Amino acid sequence: MAAAAVAMAEQVVADFREKCTTPASLLRDLASAMADEMGAGLEKEGGSRVKMLLSYVDKLPTGREEGLFYGLDLGGTNFRVLKVQLGGNKKHVVNRESREVTIPPHLMLGSSSELFGFIASELAKFVADEEKCANSSNRKQRELGFTFSFPVRQRSVASGTLVKWTKAFSIDDAVGEDVVAELQTAMEKQGLDMHVAALINDAVGTLAGARYYDEDVVAGVIFGTGTNAAYVEKVNAIPKWEGELPSSGDMIINMEWGNFYSSHFPVTEYDQALDKESLNPGEQIYEKLTSGMYLGEIARRVLLEMSLQSAIFGDIDHTKLKTHFLLRTPHISAMHHDETPDLKDVAEKLEENLEITGTSLETRKMVVEICDIVSRRAARLAAAGVAGILKKLGRDGPIGKQRSVIAIDGGLFEHYTKFRECLESTLDELLGEEASKSVAVKHMGDGSGIGAALIAASQSQYKYVEQQ
Ligand code: ADP
Ligand code: MG
Repeated sequence: MAAAAVAMAEQVVADFREKCTTPASLLRDLASAMADEMGAGLEKEGGSRVKMLLSYVDKLPTGREEGLFYGLDLGGTNFRVLKVQLGGNKKHVVNRESREVTIPPHLMLGSSSELFGFIASELAKFVADEEKCANSSNRKQRELGFTFSFPVRQRSVASGTLVKWTKAFSIDDAVGEDVVAELQTAMEKQGLDMHVAALINDAVGTLAGARYYDEDVVAGVIFGTGTNAAYVEKVNAIPKWEGELPSSGDMIINMEWGNFYSSHFPVTEYDQALDKESLNPGEQIYEKLTSGMYLGEIARRVLLEMSLQSAIFGDIDHTKLKTHFLLRTPHISAMHHDETPDLKDVAEKLEENLEITGTSLETRKMVVEICDIVSRRAARLAAAGVAGILKKLGRDGPIGKQRSVIAIDGGLFEHYTKFRECLESTLDELLGEEASKSVAVKHMGDGSGIGAALIAASQSQYKYVEQQ
């Protein structure tokens, strides 16, 4: 490879690295900005880009819930149906069955009735298969918790209208509609006797699922296809609240923090172009910097620019490298974690996905560095968000023995080890040695599905007690 090409390529990487730097001082400012936006969003409707939606979940599961409950988790890529048997009295989950289904991409852009029809039919199949093996005579109506991970404006725990789609979804006729009513109608068409007891999102579900096992959990955060967070707020800190205050004095807030924005974000021309060409330009900027749907795509854009500028990959056909979203976050994760001496996995991923062959070791190292820059910036910005929540809660300083646990879920956090490690170490860096001793980050696997079933359980059992 000509030295000039290498130098040109290195220049593209150096320029990208420089624009993506996230010094601790910047992250501390972003954490403060997040805390301020949280306050502004709680102050009044429309007070912030961070919507701080009321979830109408005013109590989290305690471990005493008992009975059979269903969960349905619609995220960004797959949906899961699950059934849990809760043992009550701290026995926790005594049995669980689940199934994961990929959403056919055309349904993400089709009509509301097609999407919900598909979900209800898969749910009906799951229930039918499950009940074949179980004695289901004399059963009560089935209770379902529905995890729907898109912004929803709620008026009660079991209803909510869709504010807008995010991630890869765009179904116009669903916006402004009550997603519970849509699901309920679709289930009736399937002849499925099931009642939606709670509508939540994955962040609320992760919080609930983790709190079920650990009382010190204060927030649930998602880094999957998209990103979001939910936490427990005191109702007297929610000026925009209208109506009756819950007796618990608490309210779970669905932050919708993916829409957080600061003019101090370390954005590059690649991010700007990605945003402009996205389904939701100008929106979800924090999400576009920190979540799984986008990290591979950012890297692809940098690789393309590097190739066009320097011909570092040789005289290649750029069709693949120009295809949006062809390079996915799991691919950059695999390249980033390549520990072979000659970066064999990097070579393989480049060839498989982008038809780039015959790269030198030097070139592969540059590719790894691009993955590193993209994921490090994401993880550090992610940590700033978490620090923002702790700041809002007054738990970002040394506070005696009080422990704060942040439960995190999502495919990016779960599978991208370097992202996860960087998030955790950056959070320690931002909190400082003393405060970080009382803060723990915990992975809550499948919290969103379990959480929905748990909230359905606590809601329906509460209702039952009320009626006595
Ligand atoms: P959802 O957000 O749709 O509910 P998940 O939480 O399972 O789904 O997250 C899926 C996302 O996680 C994918 O879009 C992908 O970006 C990311 N992901 C999945 N596997 C990996 C991996 N091995 N490495 C990095 N990221 C991954
Ligand atoms: Mg999910």
